[in-house]
Amino acid sequence: MNAQVQPQVLDVERVRADFPLLKRSVHGKPLVYFDNANTSQKPSSVIEAVDRHYREHNANVARAVHLLGEEATAAYEGARSDLARFINAGSANDVVLTSGTTQSINLVAYSYALPRLKEGDSILTTVMEHHANIVPWQIVAARSGATVKAAPIDERGELIVEQFVAMLTPDVKLACVTHVSNVLGTVNPVREIARECRKRGIPLLVDGSQAVPHRAVDVQALGCDFYAVTGHKMLGPTGTGALWARREHLQTMPPFFGGGEMIREVRFDGTTFAEPPHKFEAGTPNIAGFAGLTEAIRYYGRLGADAMHAWEQELLAYANEHLAEIPGLRIFGQAKEKEPVISFLLEGAQATDLATLLDLEGVAVRSGHHCAHPLMQFFGVPATLRASLAFYNTKAEVDAFIAALLKVRKLLL
Ligand code: PLP
Repeated sequence: MNAQVQPQVLDVERVRADFPLLKRSVHGKPLVYFDNANTSQKPSSVIEAVDRHYREHNANVARAVHLLGEEATAAYEGARSDLARFINAGSANDVVLTSGTTQSINLVAYSYALPRLKEGDSILTTVMEHHANIVPWQIVAARSGATVKAAPIDERGELIVEQFVAMLTPDVKLACVTHVSNVLGTVNPVREIARECRKRGIPLLVDGSQAVPHRAVDVQALGCDFYAVTGHKMLGPTGTGALWARREHLQTMPPFFGGGEMIREVRFDGTTFAEPPHKFEAGTPNIAGFAGLTEAIRYYGRLGADAMHAWEQELLAYANEHLAEIPGLRIFGQAKEKEPVISFLLEGAQATDLATLLDLEGVAVRSGHHCAHPLMQFFGVPATLRASLAFYNTKAEVDAFIAALLKVRKLLL
């Protein structure tokens, strides 16, 4: 008889014990933290790694020959190697450490796109992007005479891939797509998009901010050119992140910031720069943050992407089932493949009023435009509420959220 492979099952109560903040109460109620797409909570191992760095290893990187300097450098470079393995980059040297996705995308905008763009060129993005994947393109487009085009989505919140492909015309010099929508949870078919871009010789940037917290990512298999991630949404400290890029791009990109750490030799008659990735890392980085990010990556490794994904999908289905029973509740984003991000509105109630009242019940959700104005315009609403779940959430928390929603609905309507 063949040995049956047992699917790994996530023990949510054990996992929760690793997150000290989940134990707290707010307004006298147990916290239900459903704002994970905004920023995730941190396990003790991450918090302790940051604390340990400052207590035992604190020094600057790449400058000192003393032991502490070597330890700090090892922690920082170790995070680069761990991140490279985490997203299956071919080499750690293809991973530029940044303060987060916003910096990663701006690096590509200023260093890769701006020198190449000219009047008549275009950058293609989509209607569902976070402002971080729109505004940098608008800025470099305005400077170069290029334009930014946005591919449409349908009512379910799915990218209309045929239209995206039809918009990959010869004027398009760069395409920029989110892997997972921060508002709708939609998972975009990045491999297919990358294939179409490559056929036409158009480089593709993928915003992976909302993907890496939920699924295993393999940047080489995806076939994109640039992949941006942010540490604080994936259990890591704020102010950490990365840009993975194909080596050939990093080689041709001029530095974005100038300063210490990114040079080979500085002379008034001509400065030479370090090799990538250090060429893009001027100044003192968030060393303690990256020491923490290493622990975040290790945490995901222990958890297992399959177990995490299975549990999150179960939670999503459970939440959807119960939300469907609430009269007047409209969910934005019903993609076939989605991560546990639920945007919604209750007929007759303002999103902010609802979020404020939910907070008084202990439920933390986000209300507003979620840094996605064009998406709000597409749906014709100024704001939504967003409940974004993580692997450490429970069905009991979904129940508490639904009960709180029904209670505040009565108060408002
Ligand atoms: N892209 C997406 C899809 C996001 O959800 C976010 C954060 O909300 C960002 C980019 C910006 O990330 P950061 O502010 O960490 O740079």
